[in-house]
Amino acid sequence: MHEFKYKKNKFYCEDVALEKLAGEFKTPLYVYSHKTIVDHFNKIKRAFSEFKPLICYSVKSNANLNILRILVKEGAGLDVVSGGELYKSLKAGVKPSKIVYASVGKTDEEIQEALKAGILFFNVESVPELENINRIAKKLKKKANAAIRINPDVDPETHEYITTSKKENKFGIDLKAAGEIFSSMDKYECLNLNGIHLHIGSQITKAKPYKDALKKIIGFIKANKINLDYINLGGGLGIVYDNEKPQTAESFAKAIAPLLRKINARLILEPGRFIMGNSGVLAAKVIYVKDAPTKTFVITDTAMNDLMRPSLYRAFHAIVPLRKKSRLYFKKPVDIVGPVCETGDFLGKSRKFHKVEGGDFLVVLGAGAYGFSMSSNYNARPRAAEVLVKGNKYYLIRKRETYQDLIATDLKVKGI
Ligand SMILES: *Cc1c(COP(=O)(O)O)cnc(C)c1O
Repeated sequence: MHEFKYKKNKFYCEDVALEKLAGEFKTPLYVYSHKTIVDHFNKIKRAFSEFKPLICYSVKSNANLNILRILVKEGAGLDVVSGGELYKSLKAGVKPSKIVYASVGKTDEEIQEALKAGILFFNVESVPELENINRIAKKLKKKANAAIRINPDVDPETHEYITTSKKENKFGIDLKAAGEIFSSMDKYECLNLNGIHLHIGSQITKAKPYKDALKKIIGFIKANKINLDYINLGGGLGIVYDNEKPQTAESFAKAIAPLLRKINARLILEPGRFIMGNSGVLAAKVIYVKDAPTKTFVITDTAMNDLMRPSLYRAFHAIVPLRKKSRLYFKKPVDIVGPVCETGDFLGKSRKFHKVEGGDFLVVLGAGAYGFSMSSNYNARPRAAEVLVKGNKYYLIRKRETYQDLIATDLKVKGI
């Protein structure tokens, strides 16, 4: 977060004032700090250096090609969850042998594309999927690496929508069924069952759930006498949005290192939020300030279609003015909302907020992960532009969508 801060009452990303960017590129505008992206990636890399891990950045957290390129240049592999992400990853220039692919619903086409590309391995989430990958690999005369995604039935103590490791979740395979898969692996003639994958959830702030899961995995490996090439711990490392006290990458690594040493396999990590969450912010412009009986509504040009996390998870994002004009605060609690026709359209609720007026700019912090990548065209709103700041330079890395873009794929059909 250090690269996003006030200098003399003006909010900066690295050495560029956000007001300048908001003026030049308009709002809603995503702004990312190059330095923060690289720093966060290297924090994890350093913390786990003993294990020489392959760090596969989770593409779904922010899939802009330029961001993928920055991380690939730093040595990252990529973690994909769809054919589209595989396509973007290859376009970003990552070596296919550094791509891992997870998803509960990989289609035949997606499996074929991944096999042809020559990815490192599939993270497999069910027996039918395993059989399907084996069948398609045979047809293509290829041998595929597969890591079994284990659902360890541990509680990652995070929001229920981003919990992926309890037995009632759709992800992964329970230990008993996984044991049966490994003991019958000979029947998958075109697969190397040589890895185990865990991804227990997201925004996890403590090491304990990972330790619980790893202990179960170690017991499982011993009991089933399995030889592994890869142990993939997934992502999920939590960050500060509000007043969380997440573990640092270093303390996390320290806490789980003794367990990792018991597993003789190459370590893979799949961080997304940890790298991108606090590497990006979302600038918005105030349209109106509306005084209602119990609340004040600050209505901005930025809405749930631009940043869905508050609506989807009731996630908290700190919001601050781009310029601190005065020390005055609104008297009533403030809801910061967008123009979309949904009561769930808000960026922040019941905040004590600096007095602002129409035309002022705000900035939503911690919006770099699951921000733009979850955005949509709901209410026929063109999606935001994205800018990358590097020192005192800045680059438009995605142009704002236009009204023409909104109709580009709607077909004009005669006779209806
Ligand atoms: C989403 C996802 C990640 C990244 O999770 P973060 O919480 O952003 O680190 C990693 N691996 C898999 C399989 C995922 O689905």
